[in-house]
Amino acid sequence: MHVLLPARHLLPSLLCYKPHYRPISSLSIAPALVRSEGHSGGRWVPATSTFPVLDPSSGRELLSVSDFGVQETREAVRSAHTAFQSWRVTLAKERSVLLRKWSELMMQNKEDLAKLITAENGKPLKESLGEVVYAASFLEWFSEEARRVYGDFIPSPAKNKRILAVKQPVGVATIITPWNFPSAMITRKVGAALAAGCTVVVKPAEDTPLSALALAELADQAGIPGGVYNVTPCSRQKTPTVGEVLCTDPLVAKISFTGSTATGKVLLKHAADTVKRVSMELGGHAPLIVFDSANLDQAVAGAVASKFRNSGQTCVCSNRLLVQKGIHDAFVQKLAAAMNKELFVGSGFDERTTQGPLINERAVEKVEKQIQDAVARGARVVCGGKRHSLGGTFFQPTLLSDVTTDMMCTQEETFGPVAPVIKFDSEEEAIAIANSVNVGLAGYFFSQDPAQIWRVAEQLEVGMVGVNEGIVSSAEAPFGGVKQSGIGREGSKYGIDEYLEIKYICYGGL
Ligand code: ADP
Repeated sequence: MHVLLPARHLLPSLLCYKPHYRPISSLSIAPALVRSEGHSGGRWVPATSTFPVLDPSSGRELLSVSDFGVQETREAVRSAHTAFQSWRVTLAKERSVLLRKWSELMMQNKEDLAKLITAENGKPLKESLGEVVYAASFLEWFSEEARRVYGDFIPSPAKNKRILAVKQPVGVATIITPWNFPSAMITRKVGAALAAGCTVVVKPAEDTPLSALALAELADQAGIPGGVYNVTPCSRQKTPTVGEVLCTDPLVAKISFTGSTATGKVLLKHAADTVKRVSMELGGHAPLIVFDSANLDQAVAGAVASKFRNSGQTCVCSNRLLVQKGIHDAFVQKLAAAMNKELFVGSGFDERTTQGPLINERAVEKVEKQIQDAVARGARVVCGGKRHSLGGTFFQPTLLSDVTTDMMCTQEETFGPVAPVIKFDSEEEAIAIANSVNVGLAGYFFSQDPAQIWRVAEQLEVGMVGVNEGIVSSAEAPFGGVKQSGIGREGSKYGIDEYLEIKYICYGGL
């Protein structure tokens, strides 16, 4: 049985709702936090040209930002390298105090930082506030970790020798970040890097450079020395050349990237020639499995939380809902009802909104293509399925049933508000489907059977597992993937290791 909800998949009141353009000057953000120049060597640096940052709700320009090219980028790398010589020898406690101060300043300015995120990314203001708190938590966490970088004293095989292993910062780190978390994807990396004693050059996504630049202002206010945190904003057109400089310059020792698997592979190739250290947090294709043994309400709530956060635009969003046949119909019906009741599409500045616009037209086209492909192959649109009547890049939250594993939406990441439901018979079948892809970032499942919980948690080929839980990220926990979802872990006690080298010292002649 398939549950077809009435066509009013979203509230009729939406039909007369018009998202209105909010110029950045109307948002009452502290002027010091609205920056349009790059930040290099502790100074605000213009470039010879600019590029527009757009409001995804209206497609209109928010601000023109300096478009860094090769020369400005090389200078930023040099600044970072110069600053590294002194930053690396600061006391761990000094770095800790500065990171904490930076985190506190983020919290003191959280409303303004959230408005910037909503303006440039489109996500609902409540989610933006959540992101700022989450982002600040990484600076706080790594301010604590900075003081716990221990080495080892190792029993020696010879009486006249002593063996030590000490940890040292790797050097200048290039940080390339995506638009879906304009603030948190930066602090998760930069917190660890600075705590370890590295300096950084951040290249934010061209869609969302404003948050990265506001963070530079707060870094200055916190007293972080010039050159430790540099930002090189640039347009999509300049990204390949700027990216190449950032990933091949001999003064750069480390690349940390979050973004698509395709771009990650380009950067890995760049890194190869000079054998740089790399951390890659790439695409996912998260399965969310609902077993017959699940608590239905818990599974529905988990699916809504993990699928529709940020309008489905996170790399850990569930991307394939696998539902066992005994619970399938009830789950589809309840999920559709929850989507109707809880999801509201609109401008991120409207407080009713839970679903902002997608980031750009390319994103909408991908979602449309996946839905068309699924429907052509026999999927049924339970609700949504189309561009939203608000126009622009707004899209209806969509639920598809009768989905099969030959459809595009089950083979590649959607990065949009589409929940495709695949029906399965047995636990083995669900695990085989979940593990059939070449990526493995997050995976979720719902079960009340303890033996099944252990079996499935251990068999899922992913870096992070949510058991009866749709939201798993936190500063305390290791974030990262397996297979083509990436290399390395961020956050947690492990995250700082990505920015440290182990040096072995053999003390002889004793
Ligand atoms: P998306 O397609 O969602 O924008 P990307 O992986 O392309 O995802 O983007 C993530 C980040 O990688 C952004 O900061 C983007 O500018 C950057 N990026 C994209 N292509 C390159 C490249 N060739 N070199 C360096 N950075 C790149």
